[in-house]
Amino acid sequence: MAKINKAEKYVYFFGGGKADGNESMKNLLGGKGANLAEMAGHPKLRLPVPPGFTITTEVCTYYYDNKKIYPGVLKAQVGEAFAKMEKLTGKKFGDEKNPLLVSVRSGARRSMPGMMETILNVGLNEKTIQGIIAKSGDERFAYDAYRRLIMMYADVVMEKANGVEIKNGKGIRKILDEKLEHIKHKQGYASDTDLTVAELKDLVKDYKKTVRQVLGMEFPDDPLEQLWGGIGAVFSSWNGKRAVEYRRIEKIPDEWGTAVNVQAMVFGNMGNDSCTGVAFTRNPGNGENEFYGEYLVNAQGEDVVSGTRTPAPVNEYSKNEQSKHFTTLEKMMPKLYKELFKYQEQLEKHYKDMQDIEFTIEKGTLFMLQCRVGKRNGIAAVRMATEMHKQKLIDAKTAIQRVGPNQLVELLLPMLDPKAEQVNSVIAKGLPAGPGGARGRVVFTSNDAVEWAHKGEKVILVREETSPEDVDGMHKSQAILTTKGGMTSHAALVARGWGKCCIVGCGEIEIHSETKSFRAKNGATIKEGDWITLNGTRGLVYQGSLPLVAIELDKNQSYNDLMKLVNKTKVMGVRANAETPGDARQGLKFGAEGIGLFRTEHMFYGEGSEEPLFMLRKMILSKTQKERTLALNQLYKYVKKDVKDTLIVMNGLPVTIRLLDPPLHEFVPHDAEKLHQLGKELGISMSILRRRVLALHENNPMLGHRGVRLGVSYPEITEMQVRAIMEATAELLKAGKKAFPEIMVPVTCSVNELIHQKAIVEKVYKEVCEKTKMKKIPYLYGTMIETPRAALKADRMAEVADFFSFGTNDLTQMSFGFSRDDIGGFLPNYLDLKILKDDPFQTIDQDGVGELIKLGTERGRKTKPNLKIGICGEHGGDAESVKFCHRLGMNYVSCSPFRVPIARLAAAQAAIESPRK
Ligand code: ADP
Ligand code: MG
Ligand code: MG
Repeated sequence: MAKINKAEKYVYFFGGGKADGNESMKNLLGGKGANLAEMAGHPKLRLPVPPGFTITTEVCTYYYDNKKIYPGVLKAQVGEAFAKMEKLTGKKFGDEKNPLLVSVRSGARRSMPGMMETILNVGLNEKTIQGIIAKSGDERFAYDAYRRLIMMYADVVMEKANGVEIKNGKGIRKILDEKLEHIKHKQGYASDTDLTVAELKDLVKDYKKTVRQVLGMEFPDDPLEQLWGGIGAVFSSWNGKRAVEYRRIEKIPDEWGTAVNVQAMVFGNMGNDSCTGVAFTRNPGNGENEFYGEYLVNAQGEDVVSGTRTPAPVNEYSKNEQSKHFTTLEKMMPKLYKELFKYQEQLEKHYKDMQDIEFTIEKGTLFMLQCRVGKRNGIAAVRMATEMHKQKLIDAKTAIQRVGPNQLVELLLPMLDPKAEQVNSVIAKGLPAGPGGARGRVVFTSNDAVEWAHKGEKVILVREETSPEDVDGMHKSQAILTTKGGMTSHAALVARGWGKCCIVGCGEIEIHSETKSFRAKNGATIKEGDWITLNGTRGLVYQGSLPLVAIELDKNQSYNDLMKLVNKTKVMGVRANAETPGDARQGLKFGAEGIGLFRTEHMFYGEGSEEPLFMLRKMILSKTQKERTLALNQLYKYVKKDVKDTLIVMNGLPVTIRLLDPPLHEFVPHDAEKLHQLGKELGISMSILRRRVLALHENNPMLGHRGVRLGVSYPEITEMQVRAIMEATAELLKAGKKAFPEIMVPVTCSVNELIHQKAIVEKVYKEVCEKTKMKKIPYLYGTMIETPRAALKADRMAEVADFFSFGTNDLTQMSFGFSRDDIGGFLPNYLDLKILKDDPFQTIDQDGVGELIKLGTERGRKTKPNLKIGICGEHGGDAESVKFCHRLGMNYVSCSPFRVPIARLAAAQAAIESPRK
């Protein structure tokens, strides 16, 4: 054999205890190919993997760069690999006596469940089938394999890869599937396996004829044509609509390309001593360290995940409501189960992570067809990480890196209010595939889900089963409910990956697509648009919209274990943004180390806001200083109480109190009665009052008379607040309590503003010290950096400020010139066209706004090396943004209480990924 130049090696072989590739070559071989090589060839594994080869992702890139032409040497390399496969299996591709059949499988770098296509039984035709029949002595099996090939091939290669327009919404797969269903229905068969040989033979004929009629092409009988058609289709499917969609959601780059795996077929459909299955080394639903899986006797490939038949459990542990009466694999084939069990143990130890495994048993012989790191929901991720750490399978750093910060959201997710569950009756039960609670209005198609969600509706997608075409709609839904499928079905897998509430296999409801409704076992009929509520943790469906409640995180042992590791690792502080003592308490519970943003404006909204709001309005509409001071004096006690209550909760931890930044126009009353009352109180006529209201109108309030500008125009506003803060603090300290306020001036752009306000702060400070007979009241004075100019002039700002807090919401708004409240009109388009990669209000625009933050940090610290720097605003709870802040050397991030755990985890991961000197 000629030695192949490495740069020109496009085909990697595996089988017979050896492999050209290994697990570390995912970029080149794709995930599936790399793991097949590892399982087959690693000296510690050498598991029974049917021989095969991987065509590299480089070929995919080449193919797209060269008008869909393959590199010249590919054919020869594929030929050599085939020769090896033939030698190992003793069969020959295309041979009429002893034919080798293969599968053509896609495999991208990262697993994209169900996104790409796989074709099984390639190499079958009218002639080779005779060899299969003769060798297996099983005609039924042979025709079962043949009809599957035709269906898969027609769908994937002839229709999808060729971009054939689907008529009447019915693709070829569906048309062929209906023919099968028709026979089953006519004969009263429960399962595909009941079809007789004669029926299968007829079906194959019918399939071929239908393919010709619908697609206008013959199903190719030449094995080589099938092979290359299959390979080409895998490459084409990389740019298929659903693969592109999935990549967009999961942020997988388009350039990666996919590999193609060609592998000798083994058959789980050779009778009742054969089966195929999917298993996990630990339970992906809750993280328990138990081998968990499902299998189907006399079945092939996708049967288990497609949900057409309810799969059986591999062991007692894997039983559920629907499968509890089925025989386990452990009982049925004890020796093979033991073998499988041993392999899964080996695999987990080898990969040091939970593995998702595909296996097939052909007439008493076990084959391993795939392994990969298994998807898991957040609850399971936390449990597996901490338990594997305790078992010393992984170190602390790895454990911390194992949990995606956003997965923690699931632990914080609301669940159904148990009290509501007690009084409402369950209309149907299914399998709990994705935990948590969710409620929404029922829709029956993915397109509807997308459309309704777009209009702001909360929807639950209800389907018989889901397929990759549904991904977008699934993403937009609150939850997913399917009538078919098991815990390893497409819906379950995808929902698990996203941490979405999901119930599958809910056979107790029947969908009537003609009337867009479903009927539940208890007789209830639910129509499109009706509300339902799901308990995804237990698999229960309720009619109507039931209340959801937060779950008690502190009782989750694994979460506590993880957070202990996190606290030992992270160097950056995490604070909470809080508006009330209740928020502060919530933040503390989630591990906040202070309050990074306390807004006093909240007292003007909602319950109990009546009185303070009235004072505020009076203040706003005051014309003279005297009027204003009067109103402020009345407001004072509210502010002081608010501040004091929060300082008490935080018990000495820093609380950053932002001075008032009210959007004035929002607070001006418009209804006549309120105006009248105000006029009376201020002792002015309605016409004067109206004039004052009019005078307050601004064309551009976001850039108007707000923030520190208000404090400069009306120093008495600042004075009142500072007094409230200082007195509250002094009183607490005198009472032997701890309190540490940080006074923060908003919307500054010049150091002169800070100097101006500081004079007021110092004056009040002295007065309060004297009044309360305190020698010292500890506090810090600082500013929010939220205008680009403030960031640019950070060196000057730092001359006066003890701390900076980047207010990234406004900073983003003013840097981009995008109004936060009006981006809906153009941002989606910007994202679609990839003009912007992400919504800059969700994750910091590291390139642009990030540059300002970096520069502000550097210039500030140049003036004052110990300048305390943090960030508040929505970005403080976004993992990527948190990591960015860590890299800039910030002291803390601050985010809403519910994001605190996420920020803590992200901070720990940042400390591992980019250690600070
Ligand atoms: P996916 O990426 O969707 O998991 P796979 O390539 O793993 O697709 O294949 C789909 C199904 O076909 C799986 O159940 C797999 O185990 C089965 N399969 C693939 N190749 C073979 C083979 N050579 N013999 C038997 N079954 C196979
Ligand atoms: Mg598939
Ligand atoms: Mg697979």
